[in-house]
Amino acid sequence: MPDMARGQHIYRFSVGIQDGDGGMKAELGGKGAALAEMARLGVPVPPGFTISTAACRHYLKHGEFPASLRHELQQAMQWLESEHEKGFNDAANPLLVSVRSGAAVSMPGMMDTILNVGLNRETLRGLAVGGGSPRFAHDSYRRLAQMFGSVVLGVPKKRFDAALQDALRAANAASEAELGTASLEELAGRFEAIIEECKGEQFSGAAFPADPGKQLEMAIEAVFSSWRNERARYYRRLNHISEDAGTAVTVQAMAFGNMGPNSGTGVGFTRNPSTGEAALFGEFLAEAQGEDIVAGVRTPMPLAELSHTMPAVYHELCSIAARLECHYRDAQDFEFTVERGKLYLLQTRSAKRSTMAAVRIAVEMAEEGLISKLEAIRRVDPSRIGDVLCARIDVSGAPPDCVAQGLAASPGAVAGRIALCAERAVAAAANGNGPVILVAEETTAEDIHGMAASVGFLTACGGATSHAAVVARGMGKCCVTGAKDLHVEEGSGTVRMGAHWFAEGDWLTLDGSSGRVYAGRLPLRDPGREANVHLGALRAWAIEWSAGSVRANADTPEDACAAFRAGAAGIGLCRTEHMFFAPERLRHVREMILAADTVERNRALAHLLPMQQADFERIYRAMRGLPVTVRLLDPPLHEFLPAAKDLARDLAAAVARQDDDAADALRVLLERVGELAESNPMMGHRGCRLSVTYPEILTMQVGALLRAAITVADEGCDIHPEIMVPLVACAEEIAYLRRLIDKTAEDVFQSCGRRLRYSVGTMIELPRAAVCADTLAPFVDFVSFGTNDLTQMAFGFSRDDSRRFLDDYIEKQILSADPFLTIDVAGVGGLVRMAVEKLRAVKPGVKIGVCGEHAGDPASIRFFASAGVDYISCSPARLAAAQLAMAQTLREPAMGAAAKSDSPTLEHAGAA
Ligand code: ADP
Ligand code: MG
Ligand code: MG
Repeated sequence: MPDMARGQHIYRFSVGIQDGDGGMKAELGGKGAALAEMARLGVPVPPGFTISTAACRHYLKHGEFPASLRHELQQAMQWLESEHEKGFNDAANPLLVSVRSGAAVSMPGMMDTILNVGLNRETLRGLAVGGGSPRFAHDSYRRLAQMFGSVVLGVPKKRFDAALQDALRAANAASEAELGTASLEELAGRFEAIIEECKGEQFSGAAFPADPGKQLEMAIEAVFSSWRNERARYYRRLNHISEDAGTAVTVQAMAFGNMGPNSGTGVGFTRNPSTGEAALFGEFLAEAQGEDIVAGVRTPMPLAELSHTMPAVYHELCSIAARLECHYRDAQDFEFTVERGKLYLLQTRSAKRSTMAAVRIAVEMAEEGLISKLEAIRRVDPSRIGDVLCARIDVSGAPPDCVAQGLAASPGAVAGRIALCAERAVAAAANGNGPVILVAEETTAEDIHGMAASVGFLTACGGATSHAAVVARGMGKCCVTGAKDLHVEEGSGTVRMGAHWFAEGDWLTLDGSSGRVYAGRLPLRDPGREANVHLGALRAWAIEWSAGSVRANADTPEDACAAFRAGAAGIGLCRTEHMFFAPERLRHVREMILAADTVERNRALAHLLPMQQADFERIYRAMRGLPVTVRLLDPPLHEFLPAAKDLARDLAAAVARQDDDAADALRVLLERVGELAESNPMMGHRGCRLSVTYPEILTMQVGALLRAAITVADEGCDIHPEIMVPLVACAEEIAYLRRLIDKTAEDVFQSCGRRLRYSVGTMIELPRAAVCADTLAPFVDFVSFGTNDLTQMAFGFSRDDSRRFLDDYIEKQILSADPFLTIDVAGVGGLVRMAVEKLRAVKPGVKIGVCGEHAGDPASIRFFASAGVDYISCSPARLAAAQLAMAQTLREPAMGAAAKSDSPTLEHAGAA
């Protein structure tokens, strides 16, 4: 047989010939590319060929195959016949193929695949005599009738399922595997009849074609069209995948897992997708074809058992798994089939995994030397880090009653109300009566919207690689599968687990880490920052890698201790006002605010100074010499005073009980509160404006923080406070306040008899400050973007009141995200970029940071890194995500440099 050159739309693969390779995902889809790549590596795959996504796009646009495709198809089939030594439509020695979907971006189970194409009543006989048994031939034929009928001809699946149930009942069998030859033959006939009955009904109206060539063409068209089915569209919307790409179609010689007891099919993971443990994990189902295992029709056996039943196959599988992992340098998820003891791989792809598994796999692969530490850091999605610290059931009370035990398919614990189908899960979640758990015999790709609406899934059939398990790990949801004691009666809306009955809407608690199911709503415990050794290792690398660029916001000594333990590179924002709210302090703060003159105000401040100083000392000690940025008093003063309406009420009460002294005091207070009231406090007397009006407040604060620094420095801790002035709009403000700060410092040094290095900076949180940043530069050593206020002031959206309309903006797609959560790159981000440029133009060495909510948001962090900031400072709870996200923005050291010893480089000049 001459070796035909490949056509325009078709790429062949066999162990001998590969027209494509693993890099061609866009043309061949992930599946086609991986099959070509495996063939190239010498991994046993049944031969086949892939029709490109371009052909699909043509078909979807014009409703017909590209002109040359039929001819190419014919040639490719001839090649496949010679390669596999069987004939398509050869009654004596028939070639059967699968027609498989596969897009560039993996969309597991969303599109269609048809197996056993090429069978008809003639080739059936050849299959029975030539290769297998009559039982095997009839089993393959009824599978084709069922799949072709439902996928290509649009006959409702239910019709086939009902006929299958009848056959099982008649034969008193638990599953298809127990049906004898006669039953299967009868069933195949019944399926043919169903297709015939449906012909002319509302469905496609076509008959089941006996001609294998016709079967093949119709199957290819159906797979092309499955790109546009409803669940595929929904999946693409959910995962932000483009509508235009189209699917490739792979036509591949069948490997038969249903050819008797030493045949079967399986799914494997090179590492455990739930925990990340480095051990082959998966499931095997003897006497079955591929779809059976994913559909959860029968509960399969763990892969490890294969080491007893088929040791040679198991051994080969282990070595192939290791080779694939090494080649792809990532954990793989693979499909395989054993045909009479011979192993074939049918698919491999990067394994979907829980975040917990992602962390462990990344860390262990780096330790094994398969990937670099930076690559390990990049493999984990920072916004999913919270999943690792997933909820557990609180077992401090009486031990709960376990009503069913299944497989631990996806970790975490959830409590929710039972919903028995996808539609009702969506409805129940929407009516806001608490979280929903989807409970089903098994789930299929059609349930995807119900799964998105639920917090967890519980299934009776299916293993740890079934649809429900895979989806749960992808979505980061809790899942228990294969709970054998679970009996779902969808019709009556009830569920039985052992002796326990549940109705739809009842509470249930799942533990996806142990596979246990409990009745009722058990208390859950958030483990907070409970130790996870692998996450710890990853964070340590991220911290080392991001060299000093991730600080924490901390207002109290307790926060500072937590920030230090969590590896913060310093405190980027210490809000002094938070020290003022303790009751014994608030009294003096109010005295300060209500003071009639400077003398009275200074008396109040004298009480506050030692308190602030003591706090600063403890914060500095906690940080052991790491930088600490202290922000001077920022909020409007009325925040420290009682509300006018409360005072009015107290005054009325005092008058009523004729307590004149109290009434007089309250009157004075009420009057002062009235004077301080502002109609727009966020734009009122706050920030550095307070220091301009009341310089003595600044003097007290600067005195406290410098005296504290000197005390701690005398204890041997090298401390250089950073004093930050909030809400600066113009250069004259910071020039004036800097003089005041420097003068105060001079006085402190005089009285202490010792000097100390300190720096002065400003926040940039007003658009004017960003636009005029170059004029501020001469007066500052550092700046920090206060992106909360900057967003508020740039949009003119009140941080406190905008909730009312922001949701409408997002729903109507006027805004793509809440600008207070993710930085608005174009506008607020534009101000940041402009200010960075202007600052560096005047003062190249100026240190630039970001504090505020955005500093904990991975998407915003990517922007800040690209804009060239030196550090970010976020709340301690978001430190782990921020450390990872920041490290991910750094480049690998240049090639040729000693990779290990090289330190990371920030993507911009002037790194911290
Ligand atoms: P999906 O993307 O839904 O997994 P696949 O194309 O992978 O669809 O096919 C569905 C099932 O059929 C899988 O279990 C696969 O292993 C099996 N299968 C596909 N092609 C063949 C084949 N040539 N021989 C044996 N089994 C196959
Ligand atoms: Mg597959
Ligand atoms: Mg602010």
